[in-house]
Amino acid sequence: MKLLVLAETDGASILPSTLQTITFAQEWSSATGGTFDILIAGGPEIEGKAADQAGYGAQRVMVAAAPELAHPTADRVAAVASQVFRESGASSIAAPSSTFGRDILPRIAAVLDLPMLSDVMAVSNQNGLTFKRPMFAGNIIAIVQLEGENGAFSVRGTAFAKPQPKCSASPVSSVAFVAADPSIKTTWLSIEAAEQKRPELTTARVVVSGGRPLKDAETFERVIGGLADKLGGAVGATRAAVDSGIAPNELQVGQTGKVVAPELYIAAGISGSVQHLAGMKESKVIVAINTDPDAPIFEVADYGLVMDLHQAVPEMTGKV
Ligand SMILES: Cc1cc2nc3c(=O)[nH]c(=O)nc-3n(C[C@H](O)[C@H](O)[C@H](O)COP(=O)(O)OP(=O)(O)OC[C@H]3O[C@@H](n4cnc5c(N)ncnc54)[C@H](O)[C@@H]3O)c2cc1C
Repeated sequence: MKLLVLAETDGASILPSTLQTITFAQEWSSATGGTFDILIAGGPEIEGKAADQAGYGAQRVMVAAAPELAHPTADRVAAVASQVFRESGASSIAAPSSTFGRDILPRIAAVLDLPMLSDVMAVSNQNGLTFKRPMFAGNIIAIVQLEGENGAFSVRGTAFAKPQPKCSASPVSSVAFVAADPSIKTTWLSIEAAEQKRPELTTARVVVSGGRPLKDAETFERVIGGLADKLGGAVGATRAAVDSGIAPNELQVGQTGKVVAPELYIAAGISGSVQHLAGMKESKVIVAINTDPDAPIFEVADYGLVMDLHQAVPEMTGKV
């Protein structure tokens, strides 16, 4: 059995989410007795970054570096990954359960006719090969088996640690990208992205999140952003805050947003709906600030403060 790990890249560099997928691959290899390869697809400069992935026990690190992959759209990466999958004799494929993986993996699963398991949190082999994954917004952790054992796995990064380094380095080789593949039907034109001056939400050590009571974007940025900056953390938000235009889309934490598990999660003015909890309840330490002592967020909080956030958060920021 062989697993192909698809590294997450932005075209120019390999993103940290790849590391937890490599940990999954190491655990999958121990559970199955199989091996794993890593595929990195990106623009020409990605070639120089491949050696960083060679210390984790992969049988091979393969690099598809081409100008046409400088902006890795789903159809392009799926085309090269499916081709490498077939040629390398892989039986399963894994990628991070990020926007990248969620976009690309279902396409690859369809092309290769593999069953898809999303958000895998653990793999083991006691009575056959089993996988843990959340269901019903994380209220149930299901243990599932695949028919035939091979699949396409999106890996929940917050459930895996950084990979164990191995002493021998994996050989790095190049693979060709066929730009004329008929399945490629999109062309990248441009991207509009907000400039990020804070750590990435899904990998930050500290996340400070705000909800609906922040009222407007300026207050949100001053109160929530102010504390996050003092703690060197990222900023998160509820869907209610995003929907009311208080916070940008990419900050949404939860079932339909990002899944985070930082060392410290501070929830200010957040009720604690199941949909929000689905994205943050695995955080190591949860601090909740809410005026309502019966707010559900206090059921998952390690520390709770019944107080007006407009007073509590600036006071905390001042003390930090
Ligand atoms: C299909 C679906 C998917 C969803 N996905 C998500 C998701 O991914 N993420 C998400 O967050 N939500 C999601 N939601 C929405 C979710 O159900 C809740 O509506 C939302 O999380 C509530 O956000 P909130 O806590 O900011 O607002 P509210 O529910 O309005 O809660 C505000 C809280 O702030 C407290 N408060 C008020 N004033 C103050 C103050 N001055 N100081 C301190 N506390 C104060 C209140 O007591 C209350 O507990 C989803 C819903 C659906 C149906």
